[in-house]
Amino acid sequence: MERSANDRVGFCGLGIMGSRMAANLARAGFDLTVWNRTRSTAEAWAAEHGAQVAETPAQVGERCGVVITMVVDGAQVEQVLTGTDGVADSAAPGTLCIDMSTIAPADTRRIGKRLAARGLRMLDAPVSGSSPKAEDGTLTIMVGGETEEFERAQPLFAAIGQLIVHVGALGQGEALKLINNALAAANTTAAAEGLLLAQKIGLDPGQFEQVIGAGSGASAMLAMKAGPMRRRDYEPLFKLDHMLKDVRLCLEQAEQAGIPFESADYAGEVLGAASDKGFGEQDFAALIEALDTVADRRT
Ligand code: NAP
Repeated sequence: MERSANDRVGFCGLGIMGSRMAANLARAGFDLTVWNRTRSTAEAWAAEHGAQVAETPAQVGERCGVVITMVVDGAQVEQVLTGTDGVADSAAPGTLCIDMSTIAPADTRRIGKRLAARGLRMLDAPVSGSSPKAEDGTLTIMVGGETEEFERAQPLFAAIGQLIVHVGALGQGEALKLINNALAAANTTAAAEGLLLAQKIGLDPGQFEQVIGAGSGASAMLAMKAGPMRRRDYEPLFKLDHMLKDVRLCLEQAEQAGIPFESADYAGEVLGAASDKGFGEQDFAALIEALDTVADRRT
């Protein structure tokens, strides 16, 4: 008989997002087994929230009927799920792997095929909302995969997210997520340009944030990032190098589809320059630090 999402749940990857998402699962009463590359992080997390700590992803697979991954990129997801000592090494047939990282849709589909060959199921379920929404369990979750698996994962998604949408076949959650992040990066770049202009011509940055934030120039990114940009406070909610990864993946997707995405292209250039300046591990609000460099390059 197949297991359900109410069985033991595995969680691999306790970073900014994973630690908060797993905490909501623990609060909702799921019996968790956690694994993190840096074991001390998993031990500290388990001591605070109550969970078993696994030595390897394979041990997570052995113990759990559902395994969530929240790591950085496709190579890491592949390693954790199907690499040596990976989840698939020991998971029972029918185990559901839910990848919530943001990765290339093509990677998702390839990993899904490898899991299917071993009798395992997969959903891609990337999230939007950053660490504050991960913290309070109100993420947006966009899901790709079979309806049967989507239904099976509902109790888990309900503990983590608010808007939960099944958007299509495996990989389509990632495809939509990449467009979301490309738009977020483009909107942040535009907000940063507006802020720099306002400062240069003697407008008050606080009033810029207040007035534009209440007007037709507002955006979710202006609301979240104008303050940190004004204060030059780049404590990471979402690391700049991760945003750069997502914009580049979206640009690949756009190129394959033959659809121009110039605003994302420009945002990618600014993010790349900011990463080159050493801001990769900082919040992506730090892209404002590279606007002058990119403008100089273009003149
Ligand atoms: P993060 O804080 O950097 O955490 C990354 C996690 O991946 C950590 O648990 C880390 O383990 C693990 N990891 C790194 N390299 C690994 C490897 N080679 N093998 C196995 N595990 C590895 O990143 P995050 O912000 O939580 O983001 C996680 C994913 O969610 C990314 O795909 C990101 O694009 C996406 N995302 C982020 C946000 C956000 O606002 N932060 C929002 C939506 C989606 P260690 O502890 O050992 O380093």
